[in-house]
Amino acid sequence: MKSIYDGVSLFSGGLDSILAARLLADQGLRMLCLHFWSPFFGTPSSSARDRWKRLYGLEVEALDCSREMAALVSGWPPHGFGKVMNPCVDCKILLLRLAKKRMEELGAKFIATGEVMGQRPMSQRRDVLNTIRREAGVDGLLLRPLSALHLDPTPMEESGLVDRSKLLGIHGRGRQDQLALAKAYGMEEIPSPGGGCWLAERENARRYWPIRTRLGSPSAADYRLAAWGRQYWLVTADQACWLVMGRNSYDNETLKKSQEQEDLLAGVCDYPGPLALLRRGRSWTAEARRLAAAMLASYAPKAVQAGGEIGVWMKERSGIQSVVRVLPDMERIGFTRMTFDEVKAEKHAEASRHQAEENCERERRRRERLERRLAETAASAAPAEEGLPADPGPALVPEQGS
Ligand code: SF4
Repeated sequence: MKSIYDGVSLFSGGLDSILAARLLADQGLRMLCLHFWSPFFGTPSSSARDRWKRLYGLEVEALDCSREMAALVSGWPPHGFGKVMNPCVDCKILLLRLAKKRMEELGAKFIATGEVMGQRPMSQRRDVLNTIRREAGVDGLLLRPLSALHLDPTPMEESGLVDRSKLLGIHGRGRQDQLALAKAYGMEEIPSPGGGCWLAERENARRYWPIRTRLGSPSAADYRLAAWGRQYWLVTADQACWLVMGRNSYDNETLKKSQEQEDLLAGVCDYPGPLALLRRGRSWTAEARRLAAAMLASYAPKAVQAGGEIGVWMKERSGIQSVVRVLPDMERIGFTRMTFDEVKAEKHAEASRHQAEENCERERRRRERLERRLAETAASAAPAEEGLPADPGPALVPEQGS
């Protein structure tokens, strides 16, 4: 059956991805834009897709890559993290692999991206673009319409499916070319170059980093929860306790909905105050729960004003509830937030560890190769030195009884 699409296009919702898809659609190619979303980027809502259709005339499909992205961020990405917690090279490889799968399902013939050569130091240098293409397994399938004239012609251009003369040669960090093109298309709303990624922002790294390093097997839902409220941690020799405290009624509602089997939901008795979620709180020690209650109580001004101990209820998802009585932790020293400097220091230490392991592994492989070569050389040289053939075989066995 003939596919209804010629190609698919990675679509973040940022200006570059819009222009790349428009450039191809304007050649008469039937393009489907793939909008990947996860806890870190993207929006799955149908209203966003309707808006893109209305504003830019593009057909967009939303695809969930939450599980894959959570796994990527939780491990050490093979190409490392960027300046903050953005694993851009591996993220692009992952998205291209997923796009290739979707392209094959649809029977389309190629994948386009809005990448611009030289735009970003880490992921859009020529050598890195080549690595991404190779490791994603999209050789001969990947088209970068905005920078195509700086790159070798692809099979899609050579076959005439895509008209190379209508592609562009944009290069570097400047935005003038893209803005001029947006103007020529009559775009009323001009979004930022990328679609926005929370992994690239320092403030969010303070939320995500402790989840990946302290929680143990974090899920996409954990990273999603990181977007809400105030985030606090208590790290002891035995456990790392994650406390999320609502800042407003929307946060509080989200915390209620986010409660999992092992979590405790907490609130102040008899006074207004925020809700808090104790992630995996059922397994916390009594002291950790008490410190969480004291922290929560400190955010209930009327209860604090009344003076004395404050009751804090803690509820399991099954409805079982207990009450802890505490003095509020007004200095807020029990549970604390990670600073970006701490994140940076931990990230640096982990990167050094991985680099050292990689060097060790490389050295081990080099030695192995060397030893193998020496053994092969010795095996072929030894019989010659003794004046014997390499494999003496049965001919050298003296005949019995001769
Ligand atoms: S900025 Fe975020 S979404 Fe974009 S490539 Fe990097 S990690 Fe992926």
